[in-house]
Amino acid sequence: MNFVNIKSGSKGNASLLLMNESIILIDYGMNKKDLVNTLKELNKEIKDIDYIFLTHSHNDHIKGERFIDVSKIHTLKGIKNDLIDNSHYLEINNKYSFNDFEVEIIKTYHDSFYSIGFIFIDKITNEKLAYITDTGYLDVLTLEKLKNLDYYVMESNHDIYYLLISNRTLTLKSRILSGIGHLSNDLSSLYLKDLIGRNTKSILLAHLSEECNSNELAISTLLDTLKSNNDYYINNDIDINKLDIRVLSQYEETWLK
Ligand SMILES: [Zn+2]
Ligand SMILES: [Zn+2]
Repeated sequence: MNFVNIKSGSKGNASLLLMNESIILIDYGMNKKDLVNTLKELNKEIKDIDYIFLTHSHNDHIKGERFIDVSKIHTLKGIKNDLIDNSHYLEINNKYSFNDFEVEIIKTYHDSFYSIGFIFIDKITNEKLAYITDTGYLDVLTLEKLKNLDYYVMESNHDIYYLLISNRTLTLKSRILSGIGHLSNDLSSLYLKDLIGRNTKSILLAHLSEECNSNELAISTLLDTLKSNNDYYINNDIDINKLDIRVLSQYEETWLK
């Protein structure tokens, strides 16, 4: 598999996942030019996208709806109730099989009422990629499913201190910090500390707040948290120094490898 994030953050969210012969668009919160440019690097066009998976219907994830083929959208009922093909409705905790890949649907907790994350599994290499963003927390069942995956695209939205001292309204701060808001650097790092395993190669931190976070802060919070668990990693043959840890951007694409 290969993966490229076109953009990630409150200005827009969209990624392409290349799974053998299949081209998957995850969320479509991008403008047409950015999507066309990334596809061009793959010698592909918008019509070549085989599947579209949608996490939830906030504007920063759906603003490209005008120019995508909505009949290719796969999502939870409630996120989008007007799909032409009913077979494209997904259920939480179910696993779906397509030609080149499988996808497991993960429950996320967000203030859009209906929202999901994904674990994509390459049928040929068995590599697994988690796509988790826009969630206040993750439940125990989900965390169990997310263990020892190859690649994590994981929200690391804000630093709690910088969010609290920002000039945002108290209502907005409360919403973001709530169980149906966004993952902080701290919570994201605590989850990843227990999730990574011998198979893990890359962690791409997603949906960073421009105002209440920075790339350096998100990465240093994660590294400090991982280092606190170093004895466990050494005993279990996990080398955290080999991990590819990066931050996704709102302005430029990021490739997995
Ligand atoms: Zn959202
Ligand atoms: Zn969002």
